[in-house]
Formats: sequence, structure tokens, C-alpha cells
Amino acid sequence: MQLDTIAAISTPMGEGAIAIVRLSGEQAIEIAGRLFQGVGGKKLTDVASHTIHYGHLIDPRTEEVAEEVMVSVMKGPKTFTKEDVVEINCHGGLVSVNRVLQLVLNAGARLADPGEFTKRAFLNGRIDLSQAEAVMDLIRAKTDRAMNVALGQMEGRLSRLISRLRQEILETLAHVEVNIDYPEYDDVEEMTHQLLIEKAQYVREEIKKLLQTSQQGKILREGLSTVIVGRPNVGKSSLLNSLVHENKAIVTDIPGTTRDVIEEYVNVRGVPLRLLDTAGIRETEDIVERIGVERSRQVLKEADLILLVLNYADDLTVEDENIFKAVEGMDVIVIVNKTDLPQKIDLDRVKDLAKDHKLVTTSLLEDVGIDELEEAIAALFFAGSIEAGDMTYVSNSRHIALLNQSLNSIEEAITNVQAGVPIDIVQIDLTRTWELLGEIIGESVHESLIDQLFSQFCLGK
Ligand code: GDP
Ligand code: ZN
Repeated sequence: MQLDTIAAISTPMGEGAIAIVRLSGEQAIEIAGRLFQGVGGKKLTDVASHTIHYGHLIDPRTEEVAEEVMVSVMKGPKTFTKEDVVEINCHGGLVSVNRVLQLVLNAGARLADPGEFTKRAFLNGRIDLSQAEAVMDLIRAKTDRAMNVALGQMEGRLSRLISRLRQEILETLAHVEVNIDYPEYDDVEEMTHQLLIEKAQYVREEIKKLLQTSQQGKILREGLSTVIVGRPNVGKSSLLNSLVHENKAIVTDIPGTTRDVIEEYVNVRGVPLRLLDTAGIRETEDIVERIGVERSRQVLKEADLILLVLNYADDLTVEDENIFKAVEGMDVIVIVNKTDLPQKIDLDRVKDLAKDHKLVTTSLLEDVGIDELEEAIAALFFAGSIEAGDMTYVSNSRHIALLNQSLNSIEEAITNVQAGVPIDIVQIDLTRTWELLGEIIGESVHESLIDQLFSQFCLGK
């Protein structure tokens, strides 16, 4: 495949002092070579692969030194894209790195699309489908944690896990094959059944574990849908504003504000929240109020997290109690706001209503209690053993669908073995599971199963 040479700023995450402009393609070394002036007249086109060179970039139009750089030259196919790759390390400032990029573009490279280096790596067979998809997630990732998930996947964590499961299935299938070939040995059959059940159950549990992470993964990527509810005037809008102001608002390409529900994206201690304030509507006229209540109910049903706001300086009302009923069974944090004012609320009653839910008191006016609230949100999300970073999250909907199908077919296999169904039927279920898992990492050619069985286990008929 003949592809043009692309370039982009590709500074590693979190680095500041140095920036990198990366080129990839047939012309990468030549283009960089036109700009580079090394010590003692060294030419980039002459250097060995995987070497790094100190020098300057010269602007061909002015013939003046534009930048002081270190240039890495890496010839394909031993590169990320399998193409020739040049990385120009320059000073980290925005001006500097943009100037380098501009020089490179003027010298004949094309600006890369987002994810294009990875797309090439995939096209050139360097990475599998799930890794390529991870990069697209990475580009969309809204918080550090979401980014770590995507990074982990890109490094092939998910692929390795899936490959391991497929290997288990393959080995099991090899045993089944032996059983089919030598049906006269009773103990072989005995063993095969035992082994089949054990292996299939193991695979099932691993798939289940992966699926359990999918909710977390989705949340990390799309934000925890968080609804602020409460009577008029308790401080819902103020809460939304505080959370937005205290935290880095997340830039998103999803349209923010709908007509009757206000939406904001914020990053609270690594947890991306999609905040919805259902307020406003009910504070106006009757008809609008009714529409608002309908809409609010709908929004409530779809929420991952409820922030229920009460007024410290007012008695609890029937409406407050109704809101508690409406959010029963959901993840709720109860916020008693306006503690700067004299208390009127019955806190014991609030504690009764709140049951196991976390209760936080705030004065949004005086900026008190927001920290505690944020801690409560983070604790809810990252409860127990779930630690982002060292987990393989599944967040891609195609992967989730395939995992669900795999789960079905492995369960079918287990049911069949247990029911004493002929083993070659079970073999079909297992093969199906193997194929479905393979689709996640983009490799599932039916014939290759047979090939692998032979090459790996030398069943040699
Ligand atoms: P919403 O109707 O629930 O959205 O409530 P708002 O956020 O619009 O707040 C209603 C009023 O209460 C506004 O005048 C706010 O300034 C005020 N308010 C919000 N939080 C506090 C607080 O902690 N203490 C006091 N004293 N007033 C507050
Ligand atoms: Zn409001």
C-alpha cells in the first residue's frame, strides 16, 4: 500500500518541556532531511535506522535557523506504523512546536487526521482492531482515567486477555478432537467432560468479569449521568455552578444545553459527570411545569447518580418526601444546603429518609462542603476494589455486543455438556465462542481454527 507522508504534533501525555512532531510515510526521512542541518553536515538520509541526531531545522525560505532539535530516524517496518517514521523533538512551547509542524508541512508532509497514525498501524498490520478502536476512544477521552483505560487497551491489554481466553478454548477443542478420534477409551471421555466443564466455566467467568467492567468503561467515556433534583429554590442551580466552577469543565462535542434541562460536563476527581439540572422549569408557569415534571421524571430514570438537594433553612415538605420516593433504589447523595442560615429542617428525619445514602451538608453561598461532596461522588464511583488504571475496562459497544454473544455461546456449551449432548455439538458452541472473541480483536477466519489446531497441537491425522 502506498500512502502519503503525514505529520502531527504528538507530544506524550503530560509532558511539558519537550514537544514532538512526528512524521510517517515513504517520504518522512526525505522531508525531514530537507530541513535538518546536523553537526558536521550529517544527512538524515544517510543515517542508520533507530538513531537520534542533534542539529537545527533551517527554514528553506529564509535559510535561517528556526529551531534547535533532536531528530529520531526510524525506518519501517520496525516502527509503530510500519512505515518510515521521523520524530522531531523540539522545545515544548506552543509557538516552537507549531513552527516545526509548519516547516514540515511546507516541506511536503500532510497534516494527519486524528488517529491517522494508528489507522496506518492497523492498515499495515501493526496493531489489531481493538487497539485501533482504543485510539479513537483516546482521542475522545474526557478525563485522565478515561484516557488510562483507552491507553491500556491500546497497549493491547484487552487483546492479550481475549487471546488468552481463545487459547484456552483452542486447547480444550484439541482435547475434544482427541476424544472424537478415540471414542473407545471411556476414561478419555470421562476426562474430556470434566475438562470441558472446567474450561468452559473458566472462560464464562472471565467474559462475565469483562462485561462487568463495561458499565464503568462507558461511564468513563461518556460521563456519569448525574441529575440534580430538589424543590424550587433549594440551590440546585447554585450546586451546578459550584461544581462547574470548582472543576475543569469538560469540552465536549455533544450539544450542551437542551431547552428545559441544563447540561454541563465536569471532571470531579477523575470522575466525568454529565450534570443535569432539571430546575428552572418548575419555577415558572403551570403548563411548562407539567412538561418539566414529565421530562424530569424521564431524566431521573436514566440517571446514574442523583444529587438530591434539601433546604437546611426550611421545613421538610411533602414534596421533599416525594422526591425521596422517586429516587428509591438509585445511587443518591443527599445534600442539605444553606447551612449558613438558621436551621429549620429536621435532620433526624432527613437521616431516616436518606437511609444508607451519603449525606452531605453545604453552604453553597459560603463555599462550604463542596470538597466533602466531591469526595462522596468519587467514593461512590470508585467504590471498593475498583481502581482505574490497572483494570481492563471494556467500553466499546461493539466489544460489549460481541462479549455478550460469546457469553451466550459458552453458556450454551456448558448446558450441553451437562445435559450429555454429543461432544461434537459442544465443539460447535466452543468454536463459535472462539470466533466471536476473535472478532473483538479483528481476527476470525473460520479456517484458521483448523490450521491452528494442527499447527499448535500436531494432532496430525
Ligand atoms: P434552585 O431553584 O434549586 O435552582 O435554587 P438556586 O440555586 O437558584 O438558589 C435559590 C436561591 O438560594 C438563590 O438566591 C441562591 O443565591 C440562594 N442560595 C443557594 N445556596 C445557598 C446557600 O448555601 N446559602 C444561602 N443563604 N443561600 C443560598
Ligand atoms: Zn434554579
